[in-house]
Amino acid sequence: MRVVLLGPPGAGKGTQAQIIAGQLGVPAISTGDIFRANVSGQTELGMKAKTYMDAGDLVPDEITVAMVRDRLAETDAKGGFLLDGFPRTIAQAEQLRDSLGELGHRLDCVLELVVDEDELVRRLSGRRMLVDGEWVQREDDKPETVRHRLQVYREQTAPLSGFYDSAGLLSRIDAIGAVDEVTQRAIAALEQSAAGRSDGPDAG
Ligand code: ADP
Repeated sequence: MRVVLLGPPGAGKGTQAQIIAGQLGVPAISTGDIFRANVSGQTELGMKAKTYMDAGDLVPDEITVAMVRDRLAETDAKGGFLLDGFPRTIAQAEQLRDSLGELGHRLDCVLELVVDEDELVRRLSGRRMLVDGEWVQREDDKPETVRHRLQVYREQTAPLSGFYDSAGLLSRIDAIGAVDEVTQRAIAALEQSAAGRSDGPDAG
């Protein structure tokens, strides 16, 4: 299956991506994780991305799209994938559709995790990561940057919801609740979309 996980920062995409991808038997590909690994490895890509990330801005499309195209060309992604954090702009979504199209593939489903903004701010400001045995706050989880990331989401990423709805690919799920409850809703939505496809006029 080829799945995109959509949702604002703090919606729990990373957590759900790991679990759902495990159940589907496909790799979870997180652009945020790939960027962070490049930042800590001080690669050229990491240096380019860092300023944007620390400010809570999107890394420019040409950098991100090339990186994802390379990642999707790796062997483990040939039979399917779950993308977390990509696409984040309409231009990225169009590029993804076109590169999949060139290979004769298309997305099967886009799952949007829905959480209201008050809850997002609460989650993000309390979030810590374990780095070398210490709990640290991500640079972009500082309160001012969180507000900016949510604004970037509203302006640049939220329109993808309509884009994928028009393509008949969107399932929106309530992402408030226990982790396993949200996973169950996500899996149910994926099953429903798979059933919808095999019943549909394009079946076969
Ligand atoms: P979150 O979903 O919590 O905002 P991510 O880990 O997905 O965090 O992303 C962190 C940062 O990495 C983003 O704020 C952005 O700077 C950069 N980034 C990740 N994915 C993309 C993307 N598809 N396009 C542009 N920038 C991205």
